[in-house]
Amino acid sequence: MKRHFFGGIHPKYNKEMSTQVTDFRSITPREVIIPLSQHIGAPCNPLVKVGDTVMRGQKVGDGEGLCVPVHASVSGTVIAIEPRPHTSGRMVNSIVIRNDFKDDSIEMTPNNAPLEELDNDQILHAIREAGIVGMGGAAFPGNVKALSSMGKINTLIANACECEPYITADDSLLRTEPEHVLEGMLILRHVLKPERVVLAVEDNKAQAIEKVQALLPQYPGIEIVVLPTRYPQGAEKQLIQSVTGREVLPGQLPVSVGCAVFNVSTYAAIYRAVRLGLPLIQRIVTVSGEAIAQPQNFIVRIGTPFHDLVEAAGGLHDKTERVISGGPMMGFAQKDLAVPVIKATNSILCLLKDQNGAAENPVCLRCGKCVAACPMRLQPLYMYRFVNAGRTDELERLHILDCMECGSCSFTCPGKLPLVESFRKGKQMVREAAKK
Ligand code: SF4
Ligand code: SF4
Repeated sequence: MKRHFFGGIHPKYNKEMSTQVTDFRSITPREVIIPLSQHIGAPCNPLVKVGDTVMRGQKVGDGEGLCVPVHASVSGTVIAIEPRPHTSGRMVNSIVIRNDFKDDSIEMTPNNAPLEELDNDQILHAIREAGIVGMGGAAFPGNVKALSSMGKINTLIANACECEPYITADDSLLRTEPEHVLEGMLILRHVLKPERVVLAVEDNKAQAIEKVQALLPQYPGIEIVVLPTRYPQGAEKQLIQSVTGREVLPGQLPVSVGCAVFNVSTYAAIYRAVRLGLPLIQRIVTVSGEAIAQPQNFIVRIGTPFHDLVEAAGGLHDKTERVISGGPMMGFAQKDLAVPVIKATNSILCLLKDQNGAAENPVCLRCGKCVAACPMRLQPLYMYRFVNAGRTDELERLHILDCMECGSCSFTCPGKLPLVESFRKGKQMVREAAKK
């Protein structure tokens, strides 16, 4: 059953900018910066020291608990282990490797055994050891998500919606390597044993849909569901509702309604890890926006500084106002282009002006547009008022913690109020009040 989710918006998508160049360029930087924290959970401890020689694919950091390893994406010499700027805005302990351009690689062991001969422990171990995290932005360790879904789901979804404007990294992956995604889906189907396996994609990706549909006869049991293009179609809860009609209640996880959602890039990484023995050391990144000379998608080594990619895409316009990691709706503005691409970086967006920018003297017109746009059925105008009044009791009553910071309210607000910014602050206020 297909159902529409509540709210949502239709921003200008601008996706054609980066899909005009169809041949991906592969970027090989002089130096890579591998943050020891690229996932939700405990950071890794370094497994190498300054002066060590490392090979491409070598594990250079790992840890205990909710943690997955990080790997060298080039061969070369470790020249520093120190805090470096990170896309989160924090300084994060990182391993800096000077590339020797030899690409000496660790031995990768392919595994072509029939799926039924692979047991779950073996697959989950391969996913963990490859350092796989949710590549759509969540960066939750893939093995842990798969393990916590075992025996609890009947629907497995591959998220190819990529609903944020400008970003075409997943679309490009599906156009060029759809088999990797579908093979990854077979692997997780084998582990999770769902009744239904769905690749969900928005209808603005005609070429990708065609490629997948042409392959589906070779993958019986996998279906494609084409959804109308509407932001935030790719948000986990909204996607589940669109595909299954089931609503994930506030504070609940997808398993509560029998679903697990993984991004298409994550499935492809799972395939490469389990079948080819490849750790997660590269990904597709969209470099786009009106402020970049040649928007396109690149195959990028994890750890590549943003400035290398900006340069490879022809450089920035003189009047560039903002460079964002991610999309214009949910991405994070970057002050320093020395930050590296991490596992969850799908886009570097370069804008001439801030599309969701607040007015200098914002005024609420009480028009209610933000309420109609909110896919979580929240009341942004009142939340905004209570953040300003410091009323954490009211913010809790209005379920501010359910705000996923999707930006639909800010986008639609004619008064140009800084809504999302204010809700980030409000959520922090509620969490601090709860601690006390
Ligand atoms: S959309 Fe903006 S102006 Fe309209 S009610 Fe909401 S906050 Fe106020
Ligand atoms: S940012 Fe939060 S309040 Fe605004 S539309 Fe999204 S979920 Fe609703």
